Amino acid sequence: MLSRINVGMKHLADYHSIVAHELLAEITELADELRGLKVCHINATSFGGGVAEILTSLVPLMNDVGIAAEWRVMFGREEFFQVTKTIHNALQGSSTGITPTEQRIFERYNLLNAGGLDGDYDVVIVHDPQPLALRGNTPTLENAKWIWRCHIDLSDPNPGVLEYLRPMIEGYDATVFHMAQYVPQGNIPNVVIVPPAIDPLTPKNMALSSEDAAYIVGQFGLDLTRPLALQVSRFDPWKDPLGVIDAYRLARPHIPGLQLALIGSMASDDPEGWEYYNRTVEYAQGDSDIFILSNLNNVGGLEVNAFQVHANMVMQKSTREGFGLTVTESMWKARPTIGGNTGGIPLQIEDGVTGYLVRSPEECAHSMREIMDHPRSAAAMAQRGKEHVRAEFLTPRLLRDWLRILTNLTHRQ
Ligand code: UDP
Repeated sequence: MLSRINVGMKHLADYHSIVAHELLAEITELADELRGLKVCHINATSFGGGVAEILTSLVPLMNDVGIAAEWRVMFGREEFFQVTKTIHNALQGSSTGITPTEQRIFERYNLLNAGGLDGDYDVVIVHDPQPLALRGNTPTLENAKWIWRCHIDLSDPNPGVLEYLRPMIEGYDATVFHMAQYVPQGNIPNVVIVPPAIDPLTPKNMALSSEDAAYIVGQFGLDLTRPLALQVSRFDPWKDPLGVIDAYRLARPHIPGLQLALIGSMASDDPEGWEYYNRTVEYAQGDSDIFILSNLNNVGGLEVNAFQVHANMVMQKSTREGFGLTVTESMWKARPTIGGNTGGIPLQIEDGVTGYLVRSPEECAHSMREIMDHPRSAAAMAQRGKEHVRAEFLTPRLLRDWLRILTNLTHRQ
């Protein structure tokens, strides 16, 4: 029941030579006023996907600057995660709504989890829709401030599902979205816009030499002398792994020996993932130059890092995307990056300046050729991409934004 995730320790001082000193100074100043504030983050999974990734760094850093932060993961069985996956897809625009029976399942698990939400928190931060109904079901935390942190794009939702959730959203004291475009129409309480960030000091994003990266990639049977295109993402229709395979097939006659790696972790709250994984394997038709790998092949953070560092180009060919942390990760490694022109990706990639934005497998294949044909300009773009990420999308900036929100909400200043 609502397990507590042990996040270990992180130190803000370790970011000293990676981000601007002014940013670190502002964090210290804001944190001084928030010392001892009891904050609880709640989400649906401790592993897989962007939210877990962010909390793994954000929560220990909050603790390091003096906040009493916890991360708790709600309990659910497959029937609950099936429903929340349908809700997730519907909020991103799928026409499949949820039935009254599914609504009851959603409410039942939230009620169950609310019963286990012991603890005396000043602020509860609920991530994404799965735990949304906790707020109305936790009378013991009636006086806490509740924030709903939405990591998905609600700009074109299934109206029935949004209207079902709307009264729950309205119960929150504030809401946080990645981008202004993601905020749905209507009365949404105290909206704050905060894009996510990556942690440059995790095994996934720390500096890794090209030799070490090549060694790791070589262990998976790839030919280190031939070019590599990569996409790292869940096996999900919106991430378009089949479109990536199409782009690879179109580009391959022009890029001799091209290999493709598709890396996707299987999250415990993503039952659809398996189905789409199998479809992707089938679509690859046994091509021995397509490598489909996952955490089940022992591809963890360090291995993702190695593939990103070693790849000649990294793609995130999404047709719908919340933010696209994989884009941030690739740009931070100064890799030529191709992204679908959707969601948070254009916030990160300025087409032709810091990377390539594409709308189809054909455009993607074209950009792949550009990168291979003009390596110097591709490298210059990638370097600009890295500096853009340094300035905008590293964890200390995210921490600073959260401290500002907590300050405003608790009126500690
Ligand atoms: N990820 C990973 N291993 C994988 C696939 C994905 O570690 O096999 C990570 C990826 O590096 C990124 C996160 O999962 O940090 C995915 O976040 P993103 O915002 O790209 O997509 P989401 O899954 O949240 O829609």
